[in-house]
Amino acid sequence: MTSLNDLPIRDDLRGREPYGAPQLDVAVRLNTNENPYPPSPRLVKALGEAVAEVAGSLNRYPDRDAVALRADLADFLNADTPGAGLTAERVWAANGSNEIIQQILQAFGGPGRRALGFEPSYSMHPIITHVSGTAWIDAQRDEDFGLDPERAVAAVEAHRPDIVFLTSPNNPTGTALPPEAIEAILEVAPGMVVVDEAYGEFRREDTLSSLELLPDHPRLIVTRTMSKAFAMAGTRLGYLAADPAVIEALLLVRLPYHLSAVTQAVARTALAHSEELLGTVDTLRHERDLLVGWLRSQGLRVADSDANFVLFGTFADRRRVWRAVLDQGVLIREVGPPEWLRVSIGTSEETATFRSALTTALKEAQ
Ligand code: PMP
Repeated sequence: MTSLNDLPIRDDLRGREPYGAPQLDVAVRLNTNENPYPPSPRLVKALGEAVAEVAGSLNRYPDRDAVALRADLADFLNADTPGAGLTAERVWAANGSNEIIQQILQAFGGPGRRALGFEPSYSMHPIITHVSGTAWIDAQRDEDFGLDPERAVAAVEAHRPDIVFLTSPNNPTGTALPPEAIEAILEVAPGMVVVDEAYGEFRREDTLSSLELLPDHPRLIVTRTMSKAFAMAGTRLGYLAADPAVIEALLLVRLPYHLSAVTQAVARTALAHSEELLGTVDTLRHERDLLVGWLRSQGLRVADSDANFVLFGTFADRRRVWRAVLDQGVLIREVGPPEWLRVSIGTSEETATFRSALTTALKEAQ
C-alpha cells in the first residue's frame, strides 16, 4: 500500500491536515454556519426551470466572465449598501468565497510574499495562504476578540505584508470590526487589504459594511458569499467587490470557464428571489440574540456576535462538552480558542434542542 508519505508530494505539504469540519449524519447540524431554512417549493421550482433551460446548451462552455451574474451581484450589493456604486466590472464571482480567496492569493501572494491575519479567525485564510506558497503571519486579536486600531496598525507596519486579511463579522467569534480599524489599516497597508464579509448580511443595523469604503480605496477587496445568510451553500457561489483593476489581476489566474453554466443559472435565479432568501435573516438575528442571553444566564462567557453563530465557553475540557452535546444528536463545532465552542443559529426548534442538550452536558460535566 502506498502511503501519502511515499509520494513525491511538496515538502511544505507534508504533515498537514486537510480542512475537515465533521460532516455527520445527525438530527441537528449547527456546525458550519449554514442558513437552516431550505428554499421554498416556489423557489425549488424556479431553480429547476433555470437548470432545465441551460441543460439544452451544456455541450457549450459557459460565459467565461459570468457577466450577467456579476451584474446581478452588483445590483444586490448596491441594495445592501447604497453608495457602494458597484457595476459588473467591479464584481467578480467564483465557486465559493474560498475560491475567491485562493484567486486573490494566486494573484497577490506566492513564494517570497506574506499574508497577515488577526487570529482567532477563519481557518482557511492561513490554509489557502500556505497552499499558495505564501508565508502566513499570525497577528492576534485583542482579549475580547476585537481589534484595537493602534495595535493592528503597528502589526501591519512591523510586517509590511503583501495581503492583510480582516474578517468582519469574524468567524469564529462573531465580532464585527469598527470601520475606524479597517480605515486605519488601509492607510498603512503596503499591499492588498481583504475584508472577508461572509457573514455581512447578519451584521447589526449600526455596523457598516466595508463596501462603503471601496470608492476611496483601490486596494480594498470585500468578499461575500451566497453560502450563509443567502441560504445557498450547496450552490458554491462566492464573490467580491473591488476596483476593476483588481478584477483584471484575477483574470490572469482564474481557470477558464471556472463557473459552470448550471452554477451561473442557479445563482441568478436565487438572486432574483433574494427577498425570500434573505427573509429569514431577521429571525436568525433574533434567535441569535436570544441564545446569547440564554447562554449568559447559564453563567457562560459569550462573545458578542454580529453573525449567525455564537462562540461560548469557557470549558477546561471542551471536547467533553462537544461530545456530550453530539451524543444527544446536536453537532456543534470545536473551533477557535481552546476553551470555547461555536454553535450556529438554527431554526427555533433546533436551537431549543441545542439548549436542552447543552443543559444536560453541563450537568454531566459537573
Ligand atoms: N469566509 C468565512 C469567514 C467563512 O466562515 C467561510 C465558510 N465557513 C468562507 C469564507 C467560505 O465560504 P464559501 O466558500 O462557502 O463561500
